[in-house]
Amino acid sequence: MYLMNNYARFDVGFERGEGATLFDKNGKDYIDFAAGIGVNALGYANKSVTKAICKQAKKLLHTSNIYHIKPQEKLAKEISKQLGYHTYAFFCNSGAEANECAIKLARKYGTTHFSKKKFEIISLGNSFHGRTLATLRATGQDKFHPEIFAPYTQGFKFCSSIDEVIASISDETVAVMIELVQGEGGIKAFDKDEIKRLSKELKKRELLLITDEVQCGVYRTGEFVTSKIYDIKPDIITFAKGLGGGVPIGACVSRKDIFTSGDHGSTFGGNFLACASGLATLKELKKLKKSGELKKIAKNFDSELDGLLSSYPKIFSSKQGIGMMLGLVLKDESNLVKIIQSSLKNGVLVLRSGKDTLRFLPPLNISKQEIKEGFARLKKAINEI
Ligand SMILES: *Cc1c(COP(=O)(O)O)cnc(C)c1O
Repeated sequence: MYLMNNYARFDVGFERGEGATLFDKNGKDYIDFAAGIGVNALGYANKSVTKAICKQAKKLLHTSNIYHIKPQEKLAKEISKQLGYHTYAFFCNSGAEANECAIKLARKYGTTHFSKKKFEIISLGNSFHGRTLATLRATGQDKFHPEIFAPYTQGFKFCSSIDEVIASISDETVAVMIELVQGEGGIKAFDKDEIKRLSKELKKRELLLITDEVQCGVYRTGEFVTSKIYDIKPDIITFAKGLGGGVPIGACVSRKDIFTSGDHGSTFGGNFLACASGLATLKELKKLKKSGELKKIAKNFDSELDGLLSSYPKIFSSKQGIGMMLGLVLKDESNLVKIIQSSLKNGVLVLRSGKDTLRFLPPLNISKQEIKEGFARLKKAINEI
């Protein structure tokens, strides 16, 4: 073994994919209800994305960000267009990096906008914001701050509710960072009225609202961004997972133009290949949404999930989430790993979230047949535990 031992991997690897189906080296097929943790928004070997990648690869993969990069400008414009208001984008390679950028933007704003520097960022309990030292500290779960990696970046605190966030705003607070639907923390969606109240409160004090849409953005919950569903316009939004259709890309978009030259950068961020793939992905997803197909697929998936919930009242207690970011909460958390392993054996991929939630993040264009077959396999898997 030449790999670091940082992942507990399942004993399977895949060789190719088609639609929402993966194939291992023996040709066994797996219906994918996980999409590489929400990355493969259009499934595998999508024609438009593949074509855009091949076309770009034949021309140019990468130049430095010290030169103009046309696909990057186009993708920034497309994001702003799909948001419906003006934003400035910075491209990077991952969700954690997008959040690092958001944190730096907030700190610069906190330094230049107020007479006395503000720097503190409040996040929510059970949140997840990434694996770098700053985003780990922003993550509102103590298990992500073990002593082995100390000391962590300072200037963060987390609160267990929106009320507590509002009450905890201090003279040092500059921003609140929040996942409107918590991906790793149990697929928990915040209450709309509470979020609107938070947004208003921050606006009143000229503080920033950062929504981490790394998992819940890019049509995952039915709209381009989940903040649209919540009827708010955050000051900063971060993206990654679904944005590149499988090619690594992250983005931090801001309504205010805060950085000046030299403040931030990335060698690879927003290169020709990643942005070409991102553009093709966004255009396909927009079509899927406009045609009404996305809504239909989500409704179908949701009703199958309702069926599963009512078929196993001893196993599951409730359903959570929005659109195609869904979770089933287990009555007995010791069943979580058993169900995931049995599902793998039966040819369907599902994820966990938190301690007790079975998480579903299927490709957004998953076919009716794949949904039907996937749930049939899932039932068989649950019957076998
Ligand atoms: C996955 C995730 C991240 C981290 O993204 P990476 O690409 O792994 O750095 C950050 N925030 C949220 C909400 C995520 O789901």
